[in-house]
Amino acid sequence: MDTKSTLSRREVLQAISVAALGGFASATAPARATTLALPGARFPDRFMWGAATAGHQVEGNNTNADLWLLEHVKPSIFVEPSGDACNSFELWRTDLDLVKSIGLNAYRFSLEWSRIEPEPGALSIAMLDHYRRILDGCRERQLLPLVTFNHFTAPRWFAAQGGWENKAAPDLFARFCEFAARGLADGISVATTLNEPNLTRLLKWLPLPFPPGYDAARREMLAVAARAAGSTRFSAANVSDPEPMMPQLLEGHRRARAAIKSVRGDLPVGVSLAIVDDQAVGANSRRDQKRAEVYGEWMEVAKADDFIGVQNYGRQRLDASGPMLPPADAELTHNHEEFYPASLEGAIRYAHEATGRPVIVTENGIDTLDDSRRAAYIPLAIEGMKRAMASGVPVRGYIHWSLMDNFEWVFGYSPRLGLSEVDSKTFRRTLKPSARVLGALATHDLLAGR
Ligand code: BGC
Repeated sequence: MDTKSTLSRREVLQAISVAALGGFASATAPARATTLALPGARFPDRFMWGAATAGHQVEGNNTNADLWLLEHVKPSIFVEPSGDACNSFELWRTDLDLVKSIGLNAYRFSLEWSRIEPEPGALSIAMLDHYRRILDGCRERQLLPLVTFNHFTAPRWFAAQGGWENKAAPDLFARFCEFAARGLADGISVATTLNEPNLTRLLKWLPLPFPPGYDAARREMLAVAARAAGSTRFSAANVSDPEPMMPQLLEGHRRARAAIKSVRGDLPVGVSLAIVDDQAVGANSRRDQKRAEVYGEWMEVAKADDFIGVQNYGRQRLDASGPMLPPADAELTHNHEEFYPASLEGAIRYAHEATGRPVIVTENGIDTLDDSRRAAYIPLAIEGMKRAMASGVPVRGYIHWSLMDNFEWVFGYSPRLGLSEVDSKTFRRTLKPSARVLGALATHDLLAGR
C-alpha cells in the first residue's frame, strides 16, 4: 500500500501534545474503570480507535440493492450512480491495511444484505464467507471489527415489498440477521443493527427547505422504481418518508437485537443514531420538541441495548421559531455546515443522559476539500469527547467517518469526508495528512493505556 505521508513532524507532535493537554491518559482511566459490561455484553478491553465505511458506499457494483435501482431510474435525486465505488468488494484487504497503517485498532464496516439474500429467503453462504474473510483479515491485523448489519441499503425485493413500510419488515430483517450472526457473530467485536434509522426524521428539521422540485422528484423516482421492479410500491430507508417506516424500524431493531443475541449473548449490540448537538437559544426554544421527535423513541429503545452509537456531524441552534442558520461569521464546510467540532461532546453527553448506556462514537467527521481543516477538526472533536469521558460518560470508542472518500448517497462523489483519497480509475488509496493526526492521537492513547 502506497501511502503519502506529507504530515510534518511538527504537526504530529502538535497532535500528540493536544492529546496530552487534553489529559488523554487520565481522562481515559475513569471510562475504563466504569462498569460497562451489561449482563451478557462484553466490550473489548481497549478503547476502540477506528475508521468506518459502509458496503454500498465503497464496495461497488452493488446491483441488487434498492438504491442501485434508484440511482439509475429517471428522474433520480441521486446526482450520479455509485458504479464501481471504491471497488472495496475486491480491495478490502487494502482497506484493512490502510486502517492498520494509520495506527488504528478498529474498523467499522457493513454487511450488504442484498448480496447475502439476493432473493427472499435465498441466503448465500458464499457471500457470508466473503464477509467472514474480512473478519478474519481484521483479526490477522489485530483490528477490532464493528459490524453494521444494515447501513441504509436493502435488497431490491425488500424495497419492492414496501421496504420498512411493510409490516413484515421486522421479521424479514430478523431472519437475515440471524443467518448472518450464525455465520459471523463469533468474529465480531461490536454489532450495530441499523444505521441512522432516525435520519429521515432529522431531515425534517433542516433550517432551509429542500430545493423546489426536490420532493416531487423524490416521489416520482420511487414511483418509477416501483414500476421497474414490477410492484406498486418501492421504499428505501434513507429516501422514503419517515413516519410510515418508523414503527417497523423500531421493531426491526428490537427483533434484530434478539436474533443476534440468540446466537451470541455476550456480543455487544446497539443502534447507531444521527445525533446533532442541539442547542437551545433564548426563551421557548423548540430544542426539546426536536429532541422528542427525532430521538425520543430511539433513546427509549436503546435503553435495552448494550451501547448507544453516536453519529455526529455538527450542531444546530434552535430558538422559539425552530432551527437557526449558522452564525454569520461561522466557518462553513464544503457542505455548508458550520465547522464546529465541539458538537461531538454535546451529542455524546445527550445520548448518554437520555439512555444511561455506554457510548461508542460510530461516526464523526467533516466534509472538506481542505484536508488541513480535517486535521484541525479531529483533535478538537476528540478533546470534547475526552471532556465528556473525564466527567464520567463511559465512551468505548471513536470511529471516524470515513476511511476514504466514497459514494455519499444522493450527493454522489463530490463530498470529501475521507482520511484517504481514492483514484476513481485505478482505485489507488492515498492517505491524507489528517489520517496521521488521528493515528498519532490513537497511538498515543493506546500506548498510554498499556
Ligand atoms: C451516514 C454515512 C454518511 C455520512 C456522511 C451518515 O449519515 O451514516 O453513510 O456517508 O453520514 O454524510
